[in-house]
Amino acid sequence: PLPLAIYPDRPNSRGVEFGDRLQLASLMEGMERSSAPVAATPLAPGLKGGGEQEIFSPSDPSLHVGSVRFTDPKDVDKAVSTALQGFKSWSRTDPGLRAAALERAADLIEDRRDRFMALLSNEAGKTLDDGIAEIREAVDFLRYYAARSREMFSQMQPMPGPTGEENRLGWRGRGVFVCISPWNFPLAIFLGQVSAALAAGNAVIAKPAEQTSLVAHEAVCLLHEAGVPKDVLLCLPGEGDVGAALTSHPKIGGVAFTGSTETARAINRTLAAKDGPIVPFIAETGGLNAMIVDATALAEQVADDVVMSAFRSAGQRCSALRLLFVQDDVADHMLEMIEGAARELKLGDPSKPSTDIGPVIDEAQREMLAGHIAAISKTQKLVYAGEAPGEGLFFAPHIVELKEASALDREIFGPVLHVVRYKAKKLDAVLDAIDATGFGLTLGVHSRIEATVRKVIDRLDTGNVYVNRNIIGAVVGTQPFGGSGLSGTGFKAGGPHYLMRFAVEQAVSVNT
Ligand code: GLU
Repeated sequence: PLPLAIYPDRPNSRGVEFGDRLQLASLMEGMERSSAPVAATPLAPGLKGGGEQEIFSPSDPSLHVGSVRFTDPKDVDKAVSTALQGFKSWSRTDPGLRAAALERAADLIEDRRDRFMALLSNEAGKTLDDGIAEIREAVDFLRYYAARSREMFSQMQPMPGPTGEENRLGWRGRGVFVCISPWNFPLAIFLGQVSAALAAGNAVIAKPAEQTSLVAHEAVCLLHEAGVPKDVLLCLPGEGDVGAALTSHPKIGGVAFTGSTETARAINRTLAAKDGPIVPFIAETGGLNAMIVDATALAEQVADDVVMSAFRSAGQRCSALRLLFVQDDVADHMLEMIEGAARELKLGDPSKPSTDIGPVIDEAQREMLAGHIAAISKTQKLVYAGEAPGEGLFFAPHIVELKEASALDREIFGPVLHVVRYKAKKLDAVLDAIDATGFGLTLGVHSRIEATVRKVIDRLDTGNVYVNRNIIGAVVGTQPFGGSGLSGTGFKAGGPHYLMRFAVEQAVSVNT
């Protein structure tokens, strides 16, 4: 079988080879795409839930994927009190046993890779490449945070003793952590947040994106099976009102959120206004990510990396490339190559091995993207507009040339690349323009001039900088992921400090 979860020896950033795709496709073939509808209900003892929704695939409106019963916001209070009970025992459970449950979950996901592949493809429209990379990332998160928590939580760290006492410092969970996750990585980011919070000794109430409740439900059932008690991990599928009821609850211990900057601000305001303890907020939000390409860059490599960064996953990654700055001497040639590579991309059924790009997640996203192209092409030059298949929620890659970077003032979450030409002498102005966006998530630089690369890295505080490569697919434990400014609070996911925000410190001084 295809090696999975090969952390850390096989980075997922390079994609999946064609041979892998064929193997995956044969795996998918055995699965009746519509034969295994899943029913997700609020996973918590005693919760009734609200209305029921049928879920259809974004790539094929006739494909019924399952149904979900959303949580009623009135159920939130009961969910929090259940989780508070669970927290009491989980926070006192041996950290090694907590970690072992997460590792068992990682093994189970590997065993059930085909089931998750089918769900990711059907519910979230993930291509084979993206599905396999996502499953691998989810497994990596589980194993990485389990390993980190063993180091951090197993025993208290001795501190210097100039006071003549025996001083020690330790970590423990904060309480009930609310994890609110996005639809673009419905398994990896969902499990990344949840496993970090659990590893740190918290109880968790997970509120997955409403578009991808089924994948989340399946993952939570699996964690229960792996040994996480049901009152320690509760899944509350639902709409924004459920998230709002959770974040305003006076008894929660913290919030981890991945999604839009706008929603992060709203949660921040809610947390500031609510009663109860002051709790930490971990936000990983959007990016207006740039790449700088100078005249020394290798055109073939640039074309490959730009297309991968801007269009893979239909541009539905917060790390995706939105703003490409190309030195004007080489811009015509580079753009021709990029457009040529974009033309070769195949859009369609995400479960087919020949498909490069699947659908966007829902009609609202497709409308937003179409509206953006209609509006921006009135004042800027539309260089390339790909063609989308008729059926399903597809939006093809587009390339727009901007007169100046400020013509793009917000993150456009989809396969739209904006290009700006710059003069070699004006690199500083490019760096200022990137800085002025206020975001700081990912950044690419393609240059063979060391001084240029150093200058770019020095001048900008962007969270993840990639030199002479694509800018997506950060690898857990190797390329800790997350930004600053409008892009989030840190600490970085998949990095050595992430668990700290999920925990409180306790210093003990014993007069011996
Ligand atoms: N970690 C992913 C990457 O490096 C992006 C996560 C996201 O889109 O939120 O591509």
